[in-house]
Amino acid sequence: MKILKIMDCFVCSKKKEDFEVWSNKIIIAATYDSELQNHELIRKMTEKSMICHDCMQSIINQVNQNME
Ligand SMILES: [Zn+2]
Repeated sequence: MKILKIMDCFVCSKKKEDFEVWSNKIIIAATYDSELQNHELIRKMTEKSMICHDCMQSIINQVNQNME
């Protein structure tokens, strides 16, 4: 997902350039399974929260480790 303005990441608070990949809760709900949606950080997101690709990847990694 590409957003054409600079925003803060909900998790790391980084401001990223507009070419960075971002996700929001609606995208996450549509893309990932319930294991990931039950993650503590994802549950804290609001409809307006945005998360950067790096933080999204670390959450995915955590969920994958928990499943092993
Ligand atoms: Zn981030």
